[in-house]
Amino acid sequence: MIDYVIVGSGLAGICFAETATQNEKRFVMISDHSQNASLVAAGIYNPLVLKRFTMAWQAERQLDLAMRFYYRMQERLGVQFDHKLPVARILSSVEEQNNWFVTLDKPAFGRFMSADLLSNTNSFVKAPHQLGEVKETGRIDTVKMRECLLEELIKKQQFLDESFDYSALEVKADYIVYKDIKARNIIFAEGYGLKQNPWFNYLPLVGTKGEYLSIYAPELKEEKALKSACFLIPLGGGYYKVGATYKWKDKTSKTTIEAREELIQKLQKFISVDFEVVDQIAGIRPTVTDRRPLVGRHPDFRFKQLFVLNGFGSRGVLIGPYAAEALFTQIEKHHPLDAQMDISRFAVHWPSHQMK
Ligand SMILES: Cc1cc2nc3c(=O)[nH]c(=O)nc-3n(C[C@H](O)[C@H](O)[C@H](O)COP(=O)(O)OP(=O)(O)OC[C@H]3O[C@@H](n4cnc5c(N)ncnc54)[C@H](O)[C@@H]3O)c2cc1C
Repeated sequence: MIDYVIVGSGLAGICFAETATQNEKRFVMISDHSQNASLVAAGIYNPLVLKRFTMAWQAERQLDLAMRFYYRMQERLGVQFDHKLPVARILSSVEEQNNWFVTLDKPAFGRFMSADLLSNTNSFVKAPHQLGEVKETGRIDTVKMRECLLEELIKKQQFLDESFDYSALEVKADYIVYKDIKARNIIFAEGYGLKQNPWFNYLPLVGTKGEYLSIYAPELKEEKALKSACFLIPLGGGYYKVGATYKWKDKTSKTTIEAREELIQKLQKFISVDFEVVDQIAGIRPTVTDRRPLVGRHPDFRFKQLFVLNGFGSRGVLIGPYAAEALFTQIEKHHPLDAQMDISRFAVHWPSHQMK
């Protein structure tokens, strides 16, 4: 019998798989390509919410843990996917400049906000009110990270490239059986795919579609990620990512002309340079009604070997390692989960009569 079956190979599945590997647990990952938030993501980590000058939920704790996690994972796999990248907020008025300094003085913010505003030196960037730089920011190349981990899992015969068939799961008293696999526990990490999961689709996962453009602007020569009407993220070689959109109705991963036009318009508000759109991608962020992750054991005692790791919203890079470790220590060491992300907060929504 192995320790875990992990369903999904996005940030949630990857973070749990890496945590399990580092703790010498045996597991199999099963994943298809139905969702792709983690591959679409720009992979930016930044503890601040730059729109409102607030700290993201548990950001300081998550950042410290995530940096150790990605460092160890890079060392173990012998690859680099964490790239330090300055992030600067273009301030739009004197009032915003003042807000920057007011926030900077609050406890904990000083670590992440630069005390000196930057003057704009790029003639193609419109920033008459200077820029506020965020410290300790960067970009995880999620595509490369996933590719390297999956390469290892495939070699070790720990990866099945297929859709999980929920009807084939047998839940026994102390273990689960899935086809010819017997495991102590199963971790569902399907992103927005959770909507198809009969054990966990009662959870209030909303799903927010996001689209990015890739542009080629060789003259721009900007090395910082800039946040203004949208994000502009340098990828190197004259290429940039521009995004992302937030849409709540459309739950497909198809790109749209509306998003392309919206992003071009937003970009032109703060950039005055010729560029060519070379690509467009879309995915669904697994967002939750109360903006907290969905982590933990199934509330029905009959399904106590079933766990969920989801609801990372728009901050999977920082939340992933933190939530995966919390879930792992809940299962292996019976440590209680942070109540704000524990799915027990939605236990009353579980329609227990549906499952025999
Ligand atoms: C446009 C956009 C930009 C973003 N930018 C950032 C960013 O800069 N920084 C940041 O931190 N976060 C960002 N995010 C958010 C981040 O991408 C998500 O929080 C995170 O990727 C969610 O990871 P996940 O593993 O839960 O879901 P996913 O990445 O969607 O992974 C789910 C996996 O499960 C698989 N799966 C689903 N159902 C089944 C099934 N039945 N059988 C088998 N496999 C299944 C899917 O195919 C997929 O492999 C962005 C998201 C979007 C959409």
